[in-house]
Amino acid sequence: MSLHAELAAELAAREDQGLRRTRRLLESPQRAQVTVDGRDYIAFCSNDYLGLAADSRLAQAAKAGIDRYGVGAGASHLILGHSSAHHKLETALAAFVRQPRALLFSTGYMANMGVVSALTGRGDAVFADRLNHASLNDAALVSRAAFKRYAHGDLEALERLLRVTPARRRLVITDAVFSMDGDIAPVAGLLQLCARYDAHLLIDDAHGFGVLGAQGRGTLAYLGIDSERVIYMATLGKAAGVAGAFVAGSAALIDTLIQHARTYIYTTATPPLLAHTLLASLVLIEEEEWRRDRLRKLIDQLKQQLAGSTWRLLPSETPIQPLLVGGNADALALSARLAAQGLLVPAIRPPTVPQGTARLRISLSADHSFAEVTRLTAAFLNRV
Ligand SMILES: *Cc1c(COP(=O)(O)O)cnc(C)c1O
Repeated sequence: MSLHAELAAELAAREDQGLRRTRRLLESPQRAQVTVDGRDYIAFCSNDYLGLAADSRLAQAAKAGIDRYGVGAGASHLILGHSSAHHKLETALAAFVRQPRALLFSTGYMANMGVVSALTGRGDAVFADRLNHASLNDAALVSRAAFKRYAHGDLEALERLLRVTPARRRLVITDAVFSMDGDIAPVAGLLQLCARYDAHLLIDDAHGFGVLGAQGRGTLAYLGIDSERVIYMATLGKAAGVAGAFVAGSAALIDTLIQHARTYIYTTATPPLLAHTLLASLVLIEEEEWRRDRLRKLIDQLKQQLAGSTWRLLPSETPIQPLLVGGNADALALSARLAAQGLLVPAIRPPTVPQGTARLRISLSADHSFAEVTRLTAAFLNRV
């Protein structure tokens, strides 16, 4: 069989299992009301939690960034791509999350790959929550460290692994807010284990940064946790509304990443206009508390309106509110019926989530109105 025939057969098999992924075409900016494939919808799909992705002030900042820096970085950070915009942003991000230093990466995926493989290698061990984001899993595999996964949020299971590890350097890695469940990692318990077994904790705050904690300083601020054992990572394409990611921690950590993080070293720096835009975004994140207030109210509203119905939301206090369905075909059908009513809610299926736990992943944004959430819950209560 030719490669292409083999691929076509594999795709057909995926289609039969309800697992074939396709893309919709977004024809408007990313916001609560979108135009997709020629139709208008209310979307509950984005990670634009604060409603900043299409903010006109950030668009203005991007234009000013172009005028000042042009469009391309033109080189990697270690050659001549590290512009004063990147540098200012790193300083501002470090101050914002109350860490000594920060280092910008082009994406969250690259940040995780870069950090884990810069810090660990053969003879070391990485301990990972089973529901971590794929980028953390891939990072652990690439690092060549022993890769040990523990059941979701299970501190005892993690302790059993830590107790017997012969590894020299131990790194526990976890999502702060789990991207498909919306729940928050037991960070205090993880840090106690790290202290007991001389490990460090890489926290991926992709979904907490900008959303949780006073001024949106993230999950650690929300939980009131400050520890030298933490290596903090967050992304800038979700609540911050732009693109990119950063790692924050000690000067020694950041300097080490500059020497060894291959996804930092061997890639062109992101356009400085994005860093310039992110400086403006950081100000909005810090100052516009009403966006987080609105989000909290929308989350409460969704839960209240579905309480007592047969629909089951997974326990989550974050804007990620998964509605458990079970079967892949059922989740897809439900998502399609909502779409027919002008409501976009993605069906999330294995392998992104465990078998038998297909779900609709409702994401709320400060850009949603209370009436829009009521339209969604009314659809569910009318059994879609
Ligand atoms: C989105 C996400 C990433 C990847 O970030 P990008 O900037 O989109 O590459 C990493 N970790 C988690 C938990 C995420 O949700």
